[in-house]
Amino acid sequence: MESKPRESCIVCQIVSNNIPSKKVYEDELVMAVLDVNGSNAGHCFVIPKSHYAIIEQVPDIEIGRLFQVSNKISSAIFESLGAQGTNIFVANGIPAGQTVAHFTINVIPRKENDGINLQWQPKQLSEEEMSTVELKLKEQTKNIGHFEKEERKPRIQAPKPVIMSDEEEEYFGRQMRRLP
Ligand SMILES: [Zn+2]
Repeated sequence: MESKPRESCIVCQIVSNNIPSKKVYEDELVMAVLDVNGSNAGHCFVIPKSHYAIIEQVPDIEIGRLFQVSNKISSAIFESLGAQGTNIFVANGIPAGQTVAHFTINVIPRKENDGINLQWQPKQLSEEEMSTVELKLKEQTKNIGHFEKEERKPRIQAPKPVIMSDEEEEYFGRQMRRLP
């Protein structure tokens, strides 16, 4: 759906070079940029060049490329920075910690005892609660269907930046909060 660059979106501004950035990789669909507020030296974010607020809006072909590139960036981080591990992390939606309305994959270099905490307390569910969740999910995953192998529509070469209208802002806000 909507994929024009947005003047109100800081990531689109980075893609169109209106905001300077340290790009470490770029192809026709995807870009990887050093995060200036990164958690560790070499923290990169991998982004689609088109504007999508959340992962559900990104076409399969671009999701595929985004994760392929994230994997390669992770390898580059191991090779060049001597990382001992990486976290490949998506905050999808505001309750999940998403702060910018442009889908982003974080690739975070990790070393032992580097002080980054992505851990959580396990929640113990009863057998019955677990089964209920399993059934609900299975019911829904029946509808996953096929995966797109081609782009949905031809890409526009040099789309003009547009300003997000109030209705669009509200729509994306609602989408990101998973409200109807
Ligand atoms: Zn954007």
